[in-house]
Amino acid sequence: MAKSTVALPLPAQHLGTARHVTVHRYGTPGARPKAYVQAGLHADEIPGMLVAHHLIARLDEADRSGAIRGEVIVVPVANPIGLDQYLAGRLHGRSSLEHGQNFNRGFADLVETVAPRLEGRLGGDAAGNVAAIRAALLEALGETRSGSDVQALRRTLLTLAIDADIVLDLHCDLESLMHMYVSDDLWPGAADLAAQLGCRAVMLAGDSGGDPFDEACSMPWWKLRLRFGERFPVPSACLSATVELRGKSDVQDGTAASDADNILRFLQRRGLVAGAPGPVPPARCAATPLSGVDRLIAPLPGIVAFRREIGDLVRKGEVVAEIVDPTAEDPRAARTPLVSRTAGLLWSRTQMKMAAAGETVAAVAGTLPLSDRTWSLLVD
Ligand SMILES: [Zn+2]
Repeated sequence: MAKSTVALPLPAQHLGTARHVTVHRYGTPGARPKAYVQAGLHADEIPGMLVAHHLIARLDEADRSGAIRGEVIVVPVANPIGLDQYLAGRLHGRSSLEHGQNFNRGFADLVETVAPRLEGRLGGDAAGNVAAIRAALLEALGETRSGSDVQALRRTLLTLAIDADIVLDLHCDLESLMHMYVSDDLWPGAADLAAQLGCRAVMLAGDSGGDPFDEACSMPWWKLRLRFGERFPVPSACLSATVELRGKSDVQDGTAASDADNILRFLQRRGLVAGAPGPVPPARCAATPLSGVDRLIAPLPGIVAFRREIGDLVRKGEVVAEIVDPTAEDPRAARTPLVSRTAGLLWSRTQMKMAAAGETVAAVAGTLPLSDRTWSLLVD
């Protein structure tokens, strides 16, 4: 079936307004494997949108030559609501200015809804169970109510993705290296994706506490396995990852085209697109627990003066940055050091050089969990 592009309407939040989500569809609906790729859920994260543009060009070419094997869905601009949030001439993504919620939190956790319905619908056949669980998830999602446009957007996106075999949610960090977040249940199964993308860090978590998009797609599988796994086979049927395409300013055709090539190779390797992907490149990192990430927080406001660069390996106890208060009477007392509590890779830094008190200014990926990280592992 030829490629199609459709505009899915979102309900109006305000009189006289209308928005839609543009969806590029390849292959036959319902064909397997199914992959879903979206970009820009946080709206002001542009790298993924350019990667999606290049990926769409490659998939169009594959479609014209009859090389699409399964079903591929690409949503290059996943958040038209956030993209409209200009304030004093600047785009403010990440959270809804109207509702105060992070756009990548609060996706439906359907496990409690579908679990009782799956009693009597599961059996000894893993493939049959996968189909039954996907149908139950879609059914439960269809029953959810959306009171606001943001909730409707979440439901629209999740409905496109929740029954997919592969889900790639393209984001970016502030100033960062290529990295990704994935469920620990999916590791090392997703190691070829990380290696193909050239990830310099991979953060693993179970339930990170915020119901982000990638976990809404992958979490049902391991949670339902905990519930039914002793009686029935429940595989991890959705490889879902949040891919962080470096930093906000890393928007160039060259890297975007290369990233799209790598995603296409991954899709070829997973049987969605015909063609030889070539060998998996050597991994550029080992995976580390998300609970091992030390987020360095400015205890007071001031200028952020970094001592270390992105990509540096830092030692436990090492000063990564100093918060400088130029109004201090004595310059010798104007600097507050920020020390890493773990040894590991400095993979993220803020690009804002004036920190507010309590603001995260850098992150170090350590190999060991930090004891004080117990509730939500994600930053707001
Ligand atoms: Zn993001």
